[in-house]
Amino acid sequence: MHELSITQNILSITLEKANAAHASKVSKINLVIGALSGIVHECVQLYFGILSEDTIAAEAILFFRQSPTQLRCRSCATTFSPRNSDWACPSCQQQNVEIIAGRECYIDSIEVD
Ligand SMILES: [Zn+2]
Repeated sequence: MHELSITQNILSITLEKANAAHASKVSKINLVIGALSGIVHECVQLYFGILSEDTIAAEAILFFRQSPTQLRCRSCATTFSPRNSDWACPSCQQQNVEIIAGRECYIDSIEVD
């Protein structure tokens, strides 16, 4: 259900922008999805196909770009991207980290005709 509300948001923002640009058709939507967001691309794609029916975005291609996880060590303030599930700081080896990027989900750009 997570993806459904996200997809509804994506579609409404897209249509709003397309209308503002007096577009007749949305051809592509570029999305940025954080690696930690838990969003399943296929679900967004599926819901989008259903929700966009009879809109000018019905034929739009969804392009997903996954943004990497970024962490900051609370002990020494080092910022790093973990390569796997090992979240230890590369400088001080502590696991006291905060997430500074990776949970985001937004529309990067929209291409219209
Ligand atoms: Zn550290």
